[in-house]
This record gives sequence, C-alpha cells and structure tokens, in this order.
Amino acid sequence: MIYQYTGNPFTDGGIWAICEWAEKKNPKELEIEDIKRSISDIIPIYLTEAWGKNLFSVFPNNAVTNPSIKDKEKRLKQFFEELVSQVEPLQDAGNCISCGRRDVKALRNKSEIPLIGSGSLINFFPSGQSGGDYCPACTLAVQFSPFVSYACGKLLLIHSNSEKVMHYWAEKSIKDIRRQISVNSYSGCFDEGYKNPVNALFHIIEDIILEYDERWVEENPSINMYHFTNYNQGPDLDIYRVPTPVFRFLAYVKQLDQSSEWMKIVRRGYFNWDKIKEGDEYKNRGNSVYINLLKGHSIVKYFIDKKTRHVYGDWELIEFYLKEVRNMGSKRLDTLKKVGDSISEYIKDTQNIKRLNQLEMASNFASFRNQLRFIEIDRIKRGYKDSLFSLEDFMEDLFPEGNIGWRETQDLLLFRIYENLHNWLVAQDSLKSELISNEEEETGLLEEE
Ligand SMILES: [Zn+2]
Repeated sequence: MIYQYTGNPFTDGGIWAICEWAEKKNPKELEIEDIKRSISDIIPIYLTEAWGKNLFSVFPNNAVTNPSIKDKEKRLKQFFEELVSQVEPLQDAGNCISCGRRDVKALRNKSEIPLIGSGSLINFFPSGQSGGDYCPACTLAVQFSPFVSYACGKLLLIHSNSEKVMHYWAEKSIKDIRRQISVNSYSGCFDEGYKNPVNALFHIIEDIILEYDERWVEENPSINMYHFTNYNQGPDLDIYRVPTPVFRFLAYVKQLDQSSEWMKIVRRGYFNWDKIKEGDEYKNRGNSVYINLLKGHSIVKYFIDKKTRHVYGDWELIEFYLKEVRNMGSKRLDTLKKVGDSISEYIKDTQNIKRLNQLEMASNFASFRNQLRFIEIDRIKRGYKDSLFSLEDFMEDLFPEGNIGWRETQDLLLFRIYENLHNWLVAQDSLKSELISNEEEETGLLEEE
C-alpha cells in the first residue's frame, strides 16, 4: 500500500485528488501505475496560464512559477519522475513528518510543500536543519493538492477525517477540472465566485450534504478548512474548524426536509439582505448566522421574525439545534415548550394580544419576568388550575443563568407562541391597532416594579 490517511491536510488532499483522478474508490487501492498516469495528466494542466497563476500561491519558485526556468515542461517532468522513482510502499515506521511510515530522501522547502520555510531560513525547522522532512511519496501527493483546492481570494483546502467528505469533495472539484479539459478552457482551481471563506465553507458543506445521500447525521466528521496563500511576499494562513455538532445539525436540516426554511434563516443573517441586488453579491458578505455557528453563539433569534410574528422551520428543527449545538438538556427544552404552549393558550383564550406585544417588547430581564408574572396572576384570577411554571422550572429551565441568556429564553418562548398562533394572530390583526392604544396603562404597572 502506498497511501493512507496521514492527518496532513496538503498530503491528504493530494492523495484524494490522485484517487479521484485515477477513479479509484479509496486511496488504499492506489498503485504506482495510477500515480504515473495522473502525473502525465497533471503536467499539461499545470502549464496552462490559469493554473500557473494559482501555483504561485502554492509552490512559489517551482518549475512552473520560477520565471528564470525556461524549459518548464521538461523540468516539471523531471521533478515528478524523480519523485515517482523514489516512491516506496508504506513501512512500519519512518522519519517523514507527514506519513511517519517512510524515510526522507531529501529535505523539502516551500517550493515543494506549502507553508514551510524557504530552506535557507532555518528557523522554520527543528534542529536548525535546512528543510522539512517529507518522504518522496508524500511530497508527490502534495503536488496534487491544488486539484482539490478552492479559489476563494486565497485558496481553501478542506481536510476531514471522514472518507466520505474527502471523497465527495475531491469528486466535485475533479469534476470541474475534467470540465475545463473538455471545453479546452482552463480557469484554475475550482472557483464558484466566493471570496468570503466562511460563506464558502458552509456552501461547500451544505452542497455535499444535499447532493449526496449518506447517513450524514451519523457521520460525525471533524472538518477543518485552511484558507492560505504560500505566495512569496507574505504567506498566510487562517484555520476554520467546523464543530461536529454544527455539521450534524446541517445534516438534520436535510433529513427533516427543511432545507428551504433553513436557507431563509441563513438569508436573515446577511446584513441588509433586502438590499442585495445582484445575484452573486451575497457570496462575499459576512453572514452572522454562519459566523455565530462557528463561534458557538446562539442563532435562535434568526428563527423568528417579530415583525410578522412568523417562524422559520419548526419546533423539531430548533429543538435539534438547541440540543446538538447549544447543548441544551431535554428537560429544559420540554419546559420551554410547555411554557410556550401555556402562554399561547392563555393569549388565545383571553384574546390578550396586548400581553404578547409586551412580551415582545420587554428589553431587560426584569420586565420580561414581570410580564410572565402578570400572565400568571391573570391565569389564577381566571381560575386556571395548573401554574405556568414551578419555581424549579423557573430557576433551572427558563432562566438558569438569571440575567444572562434571558434573551434566548424570550426568543424561544416567542418562537413557540408564533408557531402555535401565527394563523390566529394574522386573523386578529385588525384588532391590533385598537389594543395598542391601551398600552399606556400596562406600562404604568411595569414601572411600579
Ligand atoms: Zn511520507
């Protein structure tokens, strides 16, 4: 066996690129003939103008990108031939820092492996040596990494421990290269017009989940994205990690058949979405839904539209999000749902839309808590037997962190109320203006608190 998962993003990317190019199911099946054939295919592609341009950001000063090298094709061929002649099957151990199972024949520099030193700047390497420890087989694989890199201002390289993610991603980007060959028009690395790496990252993942039928919810991949340039003047790297629960949530969106609702939620994360006119302009705008998902911040508020009292998705979807991504326990979720249902029932029974307005408008924990209290007082007056919530519900499930996080509770209760009452509320809309005029009286009550 020549190749298996190494954990090095450039090596693994290249291995999967060769694998897809050679139409093998798994890198473990790759043989030396597959690699040789792939090399003779890759050389003319790399010598095209568009690919040459990309290579400046991956392999500066190599045979293609070094302007002083005249016979580029010959030099590139020599480079590949030398590497392929040194490829050995995996051993039990070795000093290569990528596979760890083969020995190094020559030290490598940044013209051959992105984001390592130039060779002369020895402070990049351990023990002051003048290059990186990569075996010929790994070095060779890395040469194919541009085939699975994604144009996004700089380049994006996706890396996952999931064979399915790597396989489908490589398949997609190799498909684009085959398209370039078939129309004889070369445009370089797979490019869909994204410049914003976070948007690109979610686009890529959502596309893979939607396009390919797998049990994605159970796949639990770890996915990293490397947004990099190895350009001579200023190599740079940003790393994005996709939390596994976020991936699972995106997979669940598909499983629940809620993709179109989810896209509406995502759209609400673009600043001034309504004003985005041109078709592709959104690709380069920051999206707060995506950013919050990566940062572990709540996106609950994007599930509701307070203006129209409308929800996106349903309780099942938001519950999965809360459970998986926000780590909310089932008991807490059950309480939130139950209290949301009781308030919905109360509002409908009493036609008290005014109270809903006030729940919506509460702008601090104290006033929100008060509104809940007013509802409870009124419920008791009207002879409701069960209480809205117990003290334990209040402390542990509704507002476990007191003043912190009460907004999320407010949004979740409103979500459930809108979900239950949206149609009824629309029908009651004509009453609204009349009720708003009564508001002053209630505000007076609030200030007494
Ligand atoms: Zn190696």
